[in-house]
Amino acid sequence: MKLILLGPPGAGKGTQAQRLVNKHKIVQLSTGDMLRAAVKAGTPIGIIAKDIMDRGELVPDEVVVGIVADRIEEPDAQKGFILDGFPRTVPQAEALDRMLEEKGLTLDGVIELKVDDGMLLDRIEKRVSDTVARGEPVRADDNPETLKKRLIAYYAQTAPLTAYYAQKGRLSRLDGMASIEQVALAIDRILGAKTAAKASRKVVAPARQASKPARAKASPKKKAASKPKPAKKAVKSVAAKRKKAVRRAAPKKRPGRR
Ligand code: AMP
Repeated sequence: MKLILLGPPGAGKGTQAQRLVNKHKIVQLSTGDMLRAAVKAGTPIGIIAKDIMDRGELVPDEVVVGIVADRIEEPDAQKGFILDGFPRTVPQAEALDRMLEEKGLTLDGVIELKVDDGMLLDRIEKRVSDTVARGEPVRADDNPETLKKRLIAYYAQTAPLTAYYAQKGRLSRLDGMASIEQVALAIDRILGAKTAAKASRKVVAPARQASKPARAKASPKKKAASKPKPAKKAVKSVAAKRKKAVRRAAPKKRPGRR
């Protein structure tokens, strides 16, 4: 299963991704987590990303696309993955499409969690207090000021992705304001419907193939029409060459002469 979870910061993507990881035994690929790890380790990518992340802005597309391209090559991602926080811009989505196409992979779905801004602020505040209660360090960008900037970045650069995937017929939208359990149920329903549709396409495909020879016999026209096009082109071009040769060989008529 290859899935994208879309939604603003604090929409619950991480929570739902974790549940799906346990249920489907696939990996969660969170670009935010990967970038935070790079910052912590002080890698060249981490050095580029740190200030940008602290300001609540987006890390350049080429940096993030590079990280994801490397990550989905790893053995644990071969069974499937949930992309959480990626893609975040249309160029990232286009790069992902190219990446998947090169590998012969297709997305199983893109699920958007819709949550209004007031609730996002409440959730980020709760995330901060839970983190403090666990005695863990609070994320530098988890504060009301930076959240505002992250939301501006989300509406300007990430929200257009819903139109991108809706146009491709891949987008499912969910009310992310519901409880974690209700959102989880709704996601399962969407994924169940998608799996069923995929299975039925698989059943239909061999049956159609089996009926092909019979149809070809019954209709010679159809049989001719199903011939591969390059062969038809080749026949045409031979005929065209012959005509040209005849034209060349024939004496040219000049106006006014008999
Ligand atoms: P997140 O944990 O997904 O909220 O991401 C935290 C921060 O990491 C974001 O505010 C961005 O600065 C950066 N980031 C994460 N994913 C991306 C991405 N796909 N493109 C650009 N920046 C990203």
